Amino acid sequence: MTLKISNVSKTYPNGVRALKNLSLSIGANMFGLLGPNGAGKSTLMRTVATLQDADSGEIWLDDLDVLQRKDQVRRILGYLPQEFGVYPKMPAIDMLDHLAVMKGILNRGERKDAVESLLRQTNLWEYRKKKLGTFSGGMKQRFGIAQALLGNPQLIIVDEPTAGLDPSERNRFLNLLSSIGRNVIVILSTHIVEDVRELCSRMAIIHNGEVLVEAPPSEAVDALRGRMWRKSLANEAELAAVQKSLQVVSTHLLGGATEARIYAESDPGDGFKAVEASLEDAYFLALSRQKPN
Ligand code: ADP
Repeated sequence: MTLKISNVSKTYPNGVRALKNLSLSIGANMFGLLGPNGAGKSTLMRTVATLQDADSGEIWLDDLDVLQRKDQVRRILGYLPQEFGVYPKMPAIDMLDHLAVMKGILNRGERKDAVESLLRQTNLWEYRKKKLGTFSGGMKQRFGIAQALLGNPQLIIVDEPTAGLDPSERNRFLNLLSSIGRNVIVILSTHIVEDVRELCSRMAIIHNGEVLVEAPPSEAVDALRGRMWRKSLANEAELAAVQKSLQVVSTHLLGGATEARIYAESDPGDGFKAVEASLEDAYFLALSRQKPN
């Protein structure tokens, strides 16, 4: 199964060009859509999820015309939006049962089995009678996945799911995501590089509504091998000097000191040490190469 996004553009009424002739091809397995806030990820995800229209372009899921056959797409789609609203006073099991009806699972027995199995899969079975308003952030996101998996979707879209989760909640959530079927397409939209590194076999980095990089994360990192260097800098003046002569990919605070990571094809000398390239380097480098525009 392949989701083929071709030349999709979207300009909002306020003039913001959120998607610029964007094309992507997404196969089965976990695909990471990585980009900073405002890159256009949610716009693209809402468009694929048939919740908003594009101005131009086409999206096909194999031979299904996603932008034209919305009802058909919704039947095979699981979607966890960025803001997943729930009725806070409703027990989890009742809410999921209600959502299952909305999804068209009308047979009672079938629905009961589906709801139980999903609550177990997301480790929420023991909390099934608790009101959703009392759930932690991680539990809410796991519930969001449970509802997204109703009806065995073939295309699953998860928009910024780990923002706001603490490290253990995040871990648990990512483990759950990675256990989702191998034969479906899962698109994980995120600004968190680690999420993509840990989970995705392919990814795209998008920025300003355009694709900057489309590759397996390992390939994006391999391309930087032997070209990343780091140095601890004494002060702002030293950083400014480095920025003038070298391509600074990122700066980090490390034990109170500023460490710069730079990209250079050969050893820049001057106290720089070779360092292993990371996906974060690939991400920041792609974004920094954009800045002149
Ligand atoms: P991301 O999900 O990557 O943060 P979005 O798709 O939410 O990016 O936003 C892309 C751009 O479109 C941003 O500049 C954002 O401010 C703008 N935008 C998003 N939704 C709307 C809207 N409904 N009306 C106007 N501008 C919007």
